[in-house]
Amino acid sequence: MSIPMHQACDFVLFGAKGDLAMRKLFPALFQLDKANLLNPKSKIIGVARTEHDQAGFVEAVKETLDRFLKAGEMSDAEWQRFAARLDYVQVDMTKPEDFKKISAKLDASRVMVNYLATPPSVFGDICKNLSSAELINEQTRIVLEKPIGHDLASSKVINDTVATYFKEDRIYRIDHYLGKETVQNLLALRFANNLFGSQWHNSAIDHVQITVSETVGLEGRWSYYDKVGQMRDMVQNHLLQLLCMVAMNPPSKLDADSIRDEKVRVLKALHPITSENVTKRAVRGQYAAGSINGSAVVGYAQEDGAQKANSNTETFVSLRVNVDNWRWAGVPFYLRTGKRMPAKMTEIVIVYKNNPHFIFDPKQRDIVNNRLVIRLQPEEGIRLHVVTKQLDLQQGMNLQNRALNLNFGEDDPNHRTPDAYERLLLESMVGDQSLFVRRDEIEASWAWCDQLIDAWKEVGDEVKPYNAGTWGPIGSIALIERDGRSWHE
Ligand code: NDP
Repeated sequence: MSIPMHQACDFVLFGAKGDLAMRKLFPALFQLDKANLLNPKSKIIGVARTEHDQAGFVEAVKETLDRFLKAGEMSDAEWQRFAARLDYVQVDMTKPEDFKKISAKLDASRVMVNYLATPPSVFGDICKNLSSAELINEQTRIVLEKPIGHDLASSKVINDTVATYFKEDRIYRIDHYLGKETVQNLLALRFANNLFGSQWHNSAIDHVQITVSETVGLEGRWSYYDKVGQMRDMVQNHLLQLLCMVAMNPPSKLDADSIRDEKVRVLKALHPITSENVTKRAVRGQYAAGSINGSAVVGYAQEDGAQKANSNTETFVSLRVNVDNWRWAGVPFYLRTGKRMPAKMTEIVIVYKNNPHFIFDPKQRDIVNNRLVIRLQPEEGIRLHVVTKQLDLQQGMNLQNRALNLNFGEDDPNHRTPDAYERLLLESMVGDQSLFVRRDEIEASWAWCDQLIDAWKEVGDEVKPYNAGTWGPIGSIALIERDGRSWHE
């Protein structure tokens, strides 16, 4: 089923000169246009504080596309078509009178989609000023970038402010992991394959692992990151969203609210991690000096812009999480995420239970383990580890663990995996909220995370050091090995 062509939009991009807009959003919009997925009448209106004439802005977008698209990805004709959609308005988001300039660019026959690629501190001003310039009608949509707050209370303030001007069915909160093809593929894998759908519960599955690792460090963002940490930056949104996609019950329909209702149920079923159990269920780490791909790198406290030597901010988290419901009783979800890890990857591993009785050579028991590995990056693909007999007369009934491999990139050498933002920008224009986060999801997720962060404070938890280029502090290995299991490497 292909996506029907959406109604023409005025796509108004606030923060159009920022890093996100230039590095991700304009290349994604270009790819949508190139693939004929943008309505021919849609316009893209960049809004920022910087002084620019129309030509200067178009030139800046051309430069960013030249830089971030692959060689040969943009022909002159494709660029000319895209450039014809671009417009620019210089606006101070705090000045109501400036919003009249936006009004002059809009057309009533087009739906206005406002994308806020700005710090959340200006979300309120933008909404208020859109409203006072009478730019909001029943159709107008708003797309919000993360972070939506740094805890439950602050996320409620942002959500309340936006809700004053926009109904929930017009609000599109981004978690760009949901735009990844493989995350959507989880829905197909689980709900279109009886092979997996019928075995997706605690009778068949032993445990689940979710890893989101980065090789990079702070990249000049120390003063921002030190107030946030890995728990708020990665676990509250991306890791819990992935957990929801794995753990949710089948929705009755493939529509936005049916999917999001099921995700909220998972978030509400997460077993609390409190001061009673935090030392057994959660590990925080901070990288020390080490090496990544053979190059020496400094520790967190020595990074450019570091303001204190004894920061207690975590750059690594691993958790043992339980989902308190019938489907998942007794199945731990092990989550880990960190910076300065040995590899950049995002992976979900479903580890199946072994058969109750083993009839082969007892020495081979360890290799008998079905695993379904769903990889989101670097390459997107799905691998199912199955046990077979070695095809060799000499070997008798020797077993081997082999993988059935679905590597999406390999199926077609010309295949290009779309960036997550392409999918999300398209859905915001189509008006489908399935891949966006609803208010109650964000708030349930913050409520659970706040409790855990408070527990760390209550017990006076200190971050544990790990050398850059390793998989986190020793306590993270102990967290899983205590249960007789190990991290999938
Ligand atoms: P930048 O600082 O690079 O850009 C922010 C943009 O917002 C700029 O265009 C800036 O305008 C505008 N802006 C900032 N403050 C004001 C203000 N008071 N009034 C008017 N305009 C303002 O940030 P990013 O592009 O990196 O990020 C934007 C948002 O997206 C942030 O909330 C960030 O957390 C989030 N995000 C970013 C990601 C990324 O990869 N960069 C990834 C995920 C989320 P001007 O250029 O005129 O200063």
